[in-house]
Amino acid sequence: MNRDQGSVDFQPEAASVPRTAEVVVIGGGVNGASTAFQLAKRGVRNVVLLERRQLGAGATGKSGALVRAHYANTWESHLTLESLRIFRAWEDEVGPGSPGFEPIGFVQVVAPEDEAHLRANVAAQQAIGIETSVVSVTELREIEPLMRTDDLSYAAFEPSSGFADPNATLYGFAAAAAARGVTICTETEATAIRVEGDRVAGVETSAGRIATRTVVLAAGSWADRLLLPLGLDFGLTPVRTQVSIFRWPPSVDPRRRHRVVIDATQHSWFRPEGAVSTLIGAERSVAGIDPDGLREGLDHESIAVGRAALAARFPAFAAATMRGGWAGTFMRSPDGHPIIDQTPSVSGLFCMAGDSGTSFKTAPAIGVCLAEWIVDGAPRLVDLTPFRSTRFAEGRPWIDEHAYGDDRTLTVSR
Ligand SMILES: Cc1cc2nc3c(=O)[nH]c(=O)nc-3n(C[C@H](O)[C@H](O)[C@H](O)COP(=O)(O)OP(=O)(O)OC[C@H]3O[C@@H](n4cnc5c(N)ncnc54)[C@H](O)[C@@H]3O)c2cc1C
Repeated sequence: MNRDQGSVDFQPEAASVPRTAEVVVIGGGVNGASTAFQLAKRGVRNVVLLERRQLGAGATGKSGALVRAHYANTWESHLTLESLRIFRAWEDEVGPGSPGFEPIGFVQVVAPEDEAHLRANVAAQQAIGIETSVVSVTELREIEPLMRTDDLSYAAFEPSSGFADPNATLYGFAAAAAARGVTICTETEATAIRVEGDRVAGVETSAGRIATRTVVLAAGSWADRLLLPLGLDFGLTPVRTQVSIFRWPPSVDPRRRHRVVIDATQHSWFRPEGAVSTLIGAERSVAGIDPDGLREGLDHESIAVGRAALAARFPAFAAATMRGGWAGTFMRSPDGHPIIDQTPSVSGLFCMAGDSGTSFKTAPAIGVCLAEWIVDGAPRLVDLTPFRSTRFAEGRPWIDEHAYGDDRTLTVSR
């Protein structure tokens, strides 16, 4: 087993599609599976999870799966904080197996001119209980000796954040959901959400109709196909993004794994992959793609971008060997923040949409919040008001006060 892989004993069985359900969850990514599990954990019977292909067919299966609490807003930080509690206590919170969470430490690198923003963000995170601090370049050299620091002044350091295995996390939620009675139907597409009056009445699927009063839409890059026919246009855009893997050169000690790093100066991130390689994401996204026509391979130009980003922050890796990579798709919202809401115009329709390339780490808490909303009538774990779907129509898109750099639409290194 690679060191970055979690484990779960799960053999999904081909389930036939029930004719009725208390809740239908659309989308077999980490958000759909997390929500289905949390619903079942709260005693909801007859939950059906629909996945048009296989579990992990969307962004989740391709995710970098960085788990860090550093954001330029406290709401996503708060969701991550609550998710970290679940990643760390997986067997108690979810069930047998492991999400492959590796708390190897996280460093947020910013340009010197962003120091005031960095300090404001870290102070806000500390105030809600996140283990983080501002560190000087001298401290940074000890924390991550392989990193170039002469262009930096301060960074943020989270000693117990890291990364997880996105597929093991998803399978773990799915296995735990199935063990509690959730019916998981793969190769089953939801083709329409049926509404009577202003309320959800059912879901049409490629295998027949399911009558239900409650739907959770967690369909990633495909969400618009079900939202637009209901007159719900949130301005979502599918985006293609790429990651690459570089094998460490012999001059780098393979016994010491480097920290997870987000480098806002170059819009890139790095984390160990397996025992002796680094996974790199560099901001080179293409918006407005057809997610069904996604080219899953790496573009030639992206290899050079990844190599340059890696060598610029980790000079010792300049001679690293390229070992592969892939492209994935996520759904961007107009302000680059997720939409998590019970849609006001369609009663019974809950959505987690516009993940904006940053909603793996928050999925454990998002599942709790959506399940609380459905079962108890309101989310209690985290205040979801900032994530409301109506913020665009209100003319109040979400803008982070202390974002880094000039381009606030970036998501990969935000
Ligand atoms: C390359 C890459 C790197 C990333 N790195 C990070 C990171 O480091 N940290 C982080 O937090 N986030 C990261 N993200 C983002 C993160 O992976 C996503 O935000 C998250 O996985 C979204 O999960 P989801 O369940 O909402 O959607 P998805 O994983 O996209 O799942 C949606 C699922 O719905 C299914 N579906 C769609 N339509 C239908 C339908 N009509 N009927 C049935 N099923 C349907 C799809 O097949 C898909 O499986 C990254 C994303 C990519 C692509």
